[in-house]
Amino acid sequence: MKKTTQTSNETKVQLDAYLRKNHPEICRHWFDEIEPVGIDAGTLSLLVREPVRRQYLQRTCLVQFTEAAQAITGRLLAVRFVGDENIDRVKPSGDLGSDSATIELEEQLILSPDYTFETFVVGPGNRLAHAAAVAVGANLGGAYNPLFVHGGVGLGKTHVLQAVCQLVLKQKPTTRIGYLSCQSFAEMFMACVKSGRMQDFRHRFRNLDVLVIDDIHFLSKREQSQEEFFHTFNTLYQSGKQIILSSDASPNDIPDLEERLVSRFNCGLVARVDRPCYETRVAILKSKAALINLDVPEDVCAYVAARIDSNIRELEGALTKVRGYAMANKVAITLDVAKTALADDRVSTSRSNQPSIQMIIDAVTVYYDIKLSDLMSKRRHKSVALPRQVCMWLARKHTRYSLEEIGGYFGGRDHTTVLHAVRTIGTRRDEDPDISKAVDRIESAFVRQTPVG
Ligand code: ADP
Ligand code: MG
Repeated sequence: MKKTTQTSNETKVQLDAYLRKNHPEICRHWFDEIEPVGIDAGTLSLLVREPVRRQYLQRTCLVQFTEAAQAITGRLLAVRFVGDENIDRVKPSGDLGSDSATIELEEQLILSPDYTFETFVVGPGNRLAHAAAVAVGANLGGAYNPLFVHGGVGLGKTHVLQAVCQLVLKQKPTTRIGYLSCQSFAEMFMACVKSGRMQDFRHRFRNLDVLVIDDIHFLSKREQSQEEFFHTFNTLYQSGKQIILSSDASPNDIPDLEERLVSRFNCGLVARVDRPCYETRVAILKSKAALINLDVPEDVCAYVAARIDSNIRELEGALTKVRGYAMANKVAITLDVAKTALADDRVSTSRSNQPSIQMIIDAVTVYYDIKLSDLMSKRRHKSVALPRQVCMWLARKHTRYSLEEIGGYFGGRDHTTVLHAVRTIGTRRDEDPDISKAVDRIESAFVRQTPVG
């Protein structure tokens, strides 16, 4: 397929304009480097040299690019993102599992080009985790092994993990990285056990250069997966391969985790990420705004950062709302606009959006200052049991999940436990003003999508 510079430039300009107008949230500065290669058999090929970006576009932006291609050409076109090496071949690129045909690694998480060290703001809360991660990236298996990053929801653990992966790939693109969520690991393992493909499974994992598992606390209570993970860990560790883990709790605080795993996790570097301070939050907002090419005045950053202090995901959410409001009303972002946007949003979300179970859990864990893994554990101590019951009561009220589903979600409890929780909280709300107040506050936090303090 030949590339005609003339058309390709034109297509490029139109594509950019369309995306910036209709899907500004996906646009990044590096989209400049995307090159239309040509149209062949009803498919517009776009050249993206960098594998991480290519895979990211293919998996997360294909819909928007296709829409844009069709809009600017008036034809029913498909879009594909290609690398230098496969301009003439249709092949999903960058799949790390492709070298081992024996087992699909579809569960492999995709890396987001947004999550690099360049975009990571360092502050007192994450300094150690950041420094350790950079060191690990520069010296695989030699700096800290394993690297164990833990902390609350939305504090940058996944960002740090992905940043290391991308640093490593940048230095040596052929590095075999297995990056997946703990849930995927466990599910893949169970699937392989069932289908008698344990050989494949072991081969796949034990031949990696770097194993990165996000949210390892999900191993809690999964005995078989713990066992397998232990062996995978040992094999990799003994051959000097790097292991990087994240969790919502320190190794010692993950409930129902085998002692031998606890001690393995503790034998490298354990780094905790804490909530960001005000200055860091302001800096993060600026960094996020720059990423999506958004002009946000100083006082707006200050306002949003002061208002939202719980976690960074919420901080970003607020920025998105402000941008959405400004765009819809065709006004520039100012402090007044930000105030209205965030106030306005309270009303609109409570009307239109059904809260997700995640929003409920986030609100409960923030309010009671407890960990997700505690909620999901078997612990019955009052400090955990009450928040868990509140979660169940709220889930029952605000979501359409059945008692069984809710029970399953909170650490595999059966429906009678959920029913009991729902009744208990129902009664206690009527009798105990403290409980009733707590529940109301939590509820208002996720219904309005503002943090509880
Ligand atoms: P976690 O995995 O701890 O729940 P994430 O890594 O998903 O949290 O972070 C949530 C969001 O906050 C992401 O969009 C991430 O880019 C952003 N974020 C977190 N920490 C930072 C930081 N220090 N600098 C810039 N962005 C951050
Ligand atoms: Mg995460």
